[in-house]
Amino acid sequence: MHFISTRGCNEKIKGSKAIVNGLCSDGGLYVPTEFPYIKNKLNKFVSLSYNELCFEILKLFLDDFTEEELRSCIKKAYDNKFDTKIIAPTKKINNHYFLELYHGPTCAFKDMALTLMPHLLEKSLKKNNIKEEVVILTATSGDTGKAALEGFKNLNQIKIIVFFPEDGVSNIQKLQMRTQEGNNTYVVSINGNFDDAQSAVKNIFNDDEFNKYLLENNYRLSSANSINIGRLLPQIVYYFYSYLSLVRDKHIKLNDKTNFVVPTGNFGNILAAYYAKLMGLPINKLICASNENNILYDFFNTGKYDKNRILHLTTSPSMDILISSNLERLLFEISNRDDKKVNLLINSLNNKGFYEIDENMKLNLNTFHGEYATSAEVKENINKVFNENNYLIDTHTSVAYTAYEKYKQVNLEYISTIIVSTASPYKFSKDVLSSLGGDIKNLNEFDILERLSSYTNTEIPLPIENLKTANILHNRNCEKYELKKEIKNILKV
Ligand SMILES: *Cc1c(COP(=O)(O)O)cnc(C)c1O
Repeated sequence: MHFISTRGCNEKIKGSKAIVNGLCSDGGLYVPTEFPYIKNKLNKFVSLSYNELCFEILKLFLDDFTEEELRSCIKKAYDNKFDTKIIAPTKKINNHYFLELYHGPTCAFKDMALTLMPHLLEKSLKKNNIKEEVVILTATSGDTGKAALEGFKNLNQIKIIVFFPEDGVSNIQKLQMRTQEGNNTYVVSINGNFDDAQSAVKNIFNDDEFNKYLLENNYRLSSANSINIGRLLPQIVYYFYSYLSLVRDKHIKLNDKTNFVVPTGNFGNILAAYYAKLMGLPINKLICASNENNILYDFFNTGKYDKNRILHLTTSPSMDILISSNLERLLFEISNRDDKKVNLLINSLNNKGFYEIDENMKLNLNTFHGEYATSAEVKENINKVFNENNYLIDTHTSVAYTAYEKYKQVNLEYISTIIVSTASPYKFSKDVLSSLGGDIKNLNEFDILERLSSYTNTEIPLPIENLKTANILHNRNCEKYELKKEIKNILKV
């Protein structure tokens, strides 16, 4: 197994190298040279634990890791940091299923990959004889920053610096980051909004002189963002696990087809589902659920991807995105791996702000169905699901639920359907409580949590509950033009 670029340069490298590099030298994304077809093994996989299944799947891609190395990384990732032994439970609610991906240390689905990827990176540095210390730089609007801090804390040869916009994250998210423990974690707020933070960090990555200066001081910059193959591969696992758990519990028979509904932003999560299908998981449709930023809904319905539009701020902020980076990997597959076509499309996106795929590529999109939900529908359905089923979902999951309701109106045949649930309702408690009709006027964040808990008779997840008494460990703040100074300060160079 090797990894190659979606844009066709001649690199052909092993998994550990692809994890270290992050992005190919031609700007493309790493993809596996082939997808191992494991349909005939599903029978044997039915009884495996999450960790065992994770091992069976990852070893197919990361064959330059020894079995011991892989097992050790997986064991460190999926342990009692998760509040359930099952790691990713699938629950039957009414006539469909919810795959809960928020039982990790930061209560959002980013944990599924960011608990494992840092360990893979730590091993990959050794394997590739990288001597410098790696500095992970991240700009975050919320979920990623905290999950990355947790994932990378206390690892050898790695430091992590998270920049967040002072005006762009919720109070709970701020607290989550400012109370972060670990001997290698740094958190800095930037005066400004998310765009300011993001472009300031991008400028640092593109600053050759600064990168050279850091290298001379034995530091190498890297990012933990969702285009790294080390984040994508762990996400394939839970699609298999969820399907197999339905087989195990006799809700479906082996080889029956299921749908997955995925609330989508950067297209990482749903792409992993598509990869699972290419590996033989019996998937009928992948329903791509967007919020009011419905660029992907338009893409699946017209074949045209057009980012010339304004960004809406919605109640599902982790999906407020106009450029879904991982879509490039889908373009590569639906063009039958034609890197010249991918280059043309990406050039068009960069120069004109849009591209349109040809008829053959459109035909290859038939696994996907795009839908979107408005914030009003999201609110209504949080209320509906709770009242009808006594089951609480967050705003992102409600986007997916709404998309599924719309899909069912035009697709009448019953197919077992799994809705991917990406965040704990307590992470977005203000919008969840107000969806249920609760009055949030004059309540602070912790009052809201308590009221949500008593109203719904559900428990506040421990990592969020603990914030109330946690110590503030990070107080750094800087202007958006001061990042370099701040980094130098932190690294003492
Ligand atoms: C990141 C995120 C998403 C979107 O996932 P992508 O892989 O970017 O498509 C959805 N919901 C939540 C809660 C998230 O944090």
